[in-house]
Amino acid sequence: MNITEQDKLFIEEAYRLAKRNVQKGGWPFSTIIVRNGEVLSRAVNSVVWTHDPSDHAEIAAVRIATEKIGSNDLNGSTAYMLAPPCPMCSACMILAKISRIVYAVDVVSKDRALTNLPPTQGLYHAVSMQEDGPIKYEQCTQFSEDGFDLFSSWNSGLS
Ligand SMILES: [Zn+2]
Repeated sequence: MNITEQDKLFIEEAYRLAKRNVQKGGWPFSTIIVRNGEVLSRAVNSVVWTHDPSDHAEIAAVRIATEKIGSNDLNGSTAYMLAPPCPMCSACMILAKISRIVYAVDVVSKDRALTNLPPTQGLYHAVSMQEDGPIKYEQCTQFSEDGFDLFSSWNSGLS
């Protein structure tokens, strides 16, 4: 499957959610879970407010979506996010049987590596984005530059 016009719209929304979260003092991570054209959940990273290190957008979005459908099986769903999920969230996505992940910013490759990404850095490759893994990863480049700028400005604010 290739990136569709609908994918681009959801990536744009994920970007806007992440940007708004940064403007509120949070981190630039958001997730939208969609199945058969229906939005099952939208969530952002809330770690700075809840102080829960597992309160990532992907985990929150899975919790909302599974509660909404009354099942832990999200097979057939696509998760939209600005950057690929961390290893914890990748595991959650696999357990939830998310079928596809569409992201904008490649924070994994060397030339796009973000030096100040929290402790998950370096673990990405161990768990995430395996070509023969259970989830198909696709990059929607429409918001790669905007997303990268958002990550970069957020990173420069961290010490
Ligand atoms: Zn995560």
